[in-house]
Amino acid sequence: MTETLQTDVVVIGAGAVGENAADRIVRGGLSAVLVEAALVGGECSYWACMPSKALLRPGTVLKEAQSLAGSREAVTGTLDTAAVLDRRNSFTSNWDDAGQAEWVAGAGIELVRGRARLTGEREVEVAANDGRTLRISARHAVVLATGSEPITPPIEGLDTVDYWGTRDATSAAEIPGSLVVIGGGVSGVELAQAYARLGSKVTLLARHDILGSFPEPARALVRDGLEADGVDVRTSASPGAVRKSDDGGVEVALDGGGTVTGDKLLVSTGRRPALDGLGLEAVGLDPHKLDTDDSGRVAGVDWLYAVGDAAGKVLLTHQGKYEARATGDVIAARAKQEPGSREPAAWSRYTATADHYAVPQVVFTDPELAMVGRTLEQARADGINASETSLEIAVAGSSLYADDYRGWAQMVVDEDRRVLVGVTFAGPGVSELLHSATVAIAGEVPLERLWHAVPGYPTISEVWLRLLEKYGL
Ligand SMILES: Cc1cc2nc3c(=O)[nH]c(=O)nc-3n(C[C@H](O)[C@H](O)[C@H](O)COP(=O)(O)OP(=O)(O)OC[C@H]3O[C@@H](n4cnc5c(N)ncnc54)[C@H](O)[C@@H]3O)c2cc1C
Repeated sequence: MTETLQTDVVVIGAGAVGENAADRIVRGGLSAVLVEAALVGGECSYWACMPSKALLRPGTVLKEAQSLAGSREAVTGTLDTAAVLDRRNSFTSNWDDAGQAEWVAGAGIELVRGRARLTGEREVEVAANDGRTLRISARHAVVLATGSEPITPPIEGLDTVDYWGTRDATSAAEIPGSLVVIGGGVSGVELAQAYARLGSKVTLLARHDILGSFPEPARALVRDGLEADGVDVRTSASPGAVRKSDDGGVEVALDGGGTVTGDKLLVSTGRRPALDGLGLEAVGLDPHKLDTDDSGRVAGVDWLYAVGDAAGKVLLTHQGKYEARATGDVIAARAKQEPGSREPAAWSRYTATADHYAVPQVVFTDPELAMVGRTLEQARADGINASETSLEIAVAGSSLYADDYRGWAQMVVDEDRRVLVGVTFAGPGVSELLHSATVAIAGEVPLERLWHAVPGYPTISEVWLRLLEKYGL
């Protein structure tokens, strides 16, 4: 049976990003239908950010307690794996989205459960989970917030073994005795440490170095942290073939010789926008890639928008939600023909300008790695007359934070404008420092004024003062 429905805006995908887009659209005075094929809340809530950080945090807290004379003597046990998994389950609401669906209803958004695809201009068809077919016409816009899907690497034999993706690793009910992780990016590295601390013997295979987009001294600290937890970190290690081993586990043959084995294999080798089956061809678009402007609008199609992982610009929840706020607001404003909404200026509320300048990212390993903006190499490649200042974090706050604290900080300066364009911190507890750097970069705070932002004593933030002094202020 086919039903028809009319609304102002259809948002496809109710991950964190789609929820935010729909919310801003409704707050802007329009109606919105939000279509979700699986769980309301998406990847981040159930299989990514929340469960992975819930798996990591207890190990970090234990290690921090063990790193101080006084508490070290009081904390002599190991992690309680069952309790860690229970706490992880509570953060995913046991993979039940009732709470999020309730939030959607409370926000005045109409939720339709099913799989959606575009069938024409402002037309969406939904194969609903209850067997109905719905044709939804949008008066103003359709927003694609369909997220991303894992990229499967071309490794011989991979399809013959029962391997884990990040979803399996973040939702596992048992900790394998040994785990081989293919992929030295953020998810691979975080999950390698989480599992090592929960008792797995972990081998991490990275084609080049781990965390290749971060500065080397920061990467080195994380590498040391992983190795201290017993992770066998193999860099320049390319898996050529995979097969089931005789004991029921997996064996990975490396290009250039050698094998590694484990009870389980986790493949974490990146993600791409989830655009398959969305009907992009039906509206004359490339079905594999979307080209969007800073308001989220798809090039050449003035009623279609894409945000978050689906847009493929920055695959991070916070940045996707930021894009969603801009896109939700601009759709509502354009519907009302509000001034400044048609071709919004950079840094207006209708554009995700910070995507280009100030994207913060945290690697939640121990030690943590936190970076915003550009590395020195990226800044120079972008034509910026950039300098870098870096040092080890060794201030009163860091020595109080942990005995034998090791950390590293770097700031990248645009010499022509005398503003920061990139900051990296590595070390225990540095993730909470990151927002200060994000504010400085997004606000384009001149160095001479930044000098007057006095860090509290004794905090790790004093590293700001040391960086500015070393720079020459
Ligand atoms: C292991 C791991 C850890 C991560 N940790 C972090 C972190 O700590 N911090 C961070 O910022 N980012 C993290 N990320 C990235 C983060 O998870 C994503 O950036 C974020 O989930 C993207 O949100 P989204 O709403 O765009 O997509 P998703 O959360 O993927 O949501 C998309 C939704 O659309 C639905 N959908 C897809 N197609 C259709 C269709 N045709 N019809 C109806 N519904 C559809 C899907 O079912 C899904 O629910 C992590 C990623 C991974 C894999």
